[in-house]
Amino acid sequence: MKITAKDIHLSYGAREVLKGVDISGNSREFVGLIGPNGSGKSTLLKCIYRILKPDAGQIFLEDTPLQSMSYKTSARRMAVVAQHNHYNFDFSVEEIVLMGRTPHKKALERDNKKDYDIARQCLERVGMADFASRSFSTLSGGEQQRVILARALAQQTPCLILDEPTNHLDITHQLQLMEIIKALDVTVISAIHDLNIAAMFCDRIFALKDGCIVGEGTPGELFTPEFIRQVYQVEAEVVRDSRGQMHILFMDHC
Ligand code: ADP
Ligand code: MG
Repeated sequence: MKITAKDIHLSYGAREVLKGVDISGNSREFVGLIGPNGSGKSTLLKCIYRILKPDAGQIFLEDTPLQSMSYKTSARRMAVVAQHNHYNFDFSVEEIVLMGRTPHKKALERDNKKDYDIARQCLERVGMADFASRSFSTLSGGEQQRVILARALAQQTPCLILDEPTNHLDITHQLQLMEIIKALDVTVISAIHDLNIAAMFCDRIFALKDGCIVGEGTPGELFTPEFIRQVYQVEAEVVRDSRGQMHILFMDHC
């Protein structure tokens, strides 16, 4: 399912943070969103997952404007792994994952065996099956992040939006989580902090700086020393390893 954001503008008070942003993710494409801290990545994703309403511009799932869809309908098409997940009540891990089933259910319909099976499979997928009865609030940041991914998987949507999903994870779990997402074969738009992780997993990358898109392309097209200097003010060298995988080596601040 294709996601298109067209000419998105958003201001916090008088300050315009998104200044006419266009991005898109084609069906089953893994799209990365990179850019320095404060460039507007989370704000753009919040517009896409409907926490914020853009001041101007529109977002489409295929050809349907998101605004014309009920929240339930869009939640059947798009799951979200946001950056911060705080709950006012203490839920178990299993309960959190079962929340992913809500858009598929009628009001007050109870979870059935299929929902529990899906929740268990999704927890297994992220390596958290042993934690099902644990209280979510007692988990480490990285464990919580994997549970939130399991909840998004349980939603069984053709689109997935992620905001720096690997932030709290060690390298093993970073790679594991990105591999799980890649294997889903759904449309992904993910803010990614680490350019090397972005280079490994993304089909296409958009770079955001000061609320404007300043580059778009495959990792090979986009990640040149000139581009990295322009966006991050850092000197870098781009090399290929024996398998042809690209790596960005950072030298120093220019
Ligand atoms: P990124 O995710 O790329 O780090 P954000 O979208 O979080 O960037 O933030 C973009 C800019 O908007 C930053 O300067 C940030 O301080 C500001 N900002 C984010 N959220 C709010 C808010 N709720 N109110 C005011 N300013 C905000
Ligand atoms: Mg952010």
